[in-house]
Amino acid sequence: MISFPEMLPDELFYSCCTRYHIESGNETNSQTMKELFGNPSFKMKCMLPSHLNNFIKRYNCKWGRICSNDILMNHTIYPIFRSFLDYKESDVILQMINGTLKYRPHFILGIKNNLWGQVLNFCSDCVKEDDLNYGFPYWHRLHQVPGILYCPKHCKRLKRSCPGCNFRFETQNNFLVIKRFCRCGHDFSCDIANQVVSLDEYRAQLELINISQDIAYVFSANVFTGHQWQQLYRDRISKTKYFSLTGRLNQRALANDFISFYTRSTLKLLECELSNINWLQHFFNRKKHIYHPIKHILFIRFLYGSISNFYNEVSEAA
Ligand SMILES: [Zn+2]
Ligand SMILES: [Zn+2]
Repeated sequence: MISFPEMLPDELFYSCCTRYHIESGNETNSQTMKELFGNPSFKMKCMLPSHLNNFIKRYNCKWGRICSNDILMNHTIYPIFRSFLDYKESDVILQMINGTLKYRPHFILGIKNNLWGQVLNFCSDCVKEDDLNYGFPYWHRLHQVPGILYCPKHCKRLKRSCPGCNFRFETQNNFLVIKRFCRCGHDFSCDIANQVVSLDEYRAQLELINISQDIAYVFSANVFTGHQWQQLYRDRISKTKYFSLTGRLNQRALANDFISFYTRSTLKLLECELSNINWLQHFFNRKKHIYHPIKHILFIRFLYGSISNFYNEVSEAA
């Protein structure tokens, strides 16, 4: 019996299961699912695992001890949601991951757009680096986080397909491993020559890199849950031009300033434009909304400059 591979820094749990699948020599996915999760009909989930309790039980029986919190916090994208959800919502997600509630995180997380991919992303520099350090590349968890379009470490645009033949890693609940070279022999660590970009595109690139690094910061800082977001945002702008003396929010002024704070393509790429729905106003409604973390991050950058500034200010005030 082979053992479960050691999880590498920032490796997606899915990636480790995939390496196990390859190393086991199992011919079918169901065989691997039975070995890892105890049920051949379970499907391998890519971004957020399901039936993690089953995995922990089987792991502890076969290979020793493993901590489910370590998997969750260091090898899945769960922390980004935990940081922006309240306790109750976080708990629902946890139960879905553990397998005690029906798995449908999209409903809770408010992810219904392309930012929640079934296509795995990679950074060509990370591929090269991992290949040098470990002898093979692997799937990084940060590269799969909705809203991260640039590698926070190398500041390079993440790729979703082979630059040589356009092969895409569409998971569809399968085990897909990334190697240094694609099936046609193209090197995943190669880059296409830099293209000339307009000033606007350049600005958008910088913004997207900053946002990617902000998201990475959320993971590394691993702070608090259960924020009263509406209250925090309201406090932050309560004495500004966005509120009248009678306490009425000037939605138009807020939206206009927010729109001009970012380039249009940044908001478009992140699917956070304000053209159809002014989602900013929901931050100030009494009605409770669940917001995609990327919306919080964009708004926090607008209000505080960066996530780290925000954390510092909030912790000083506490
Ligand atoms: Zn990288
Ligand atoms: Zn290729």
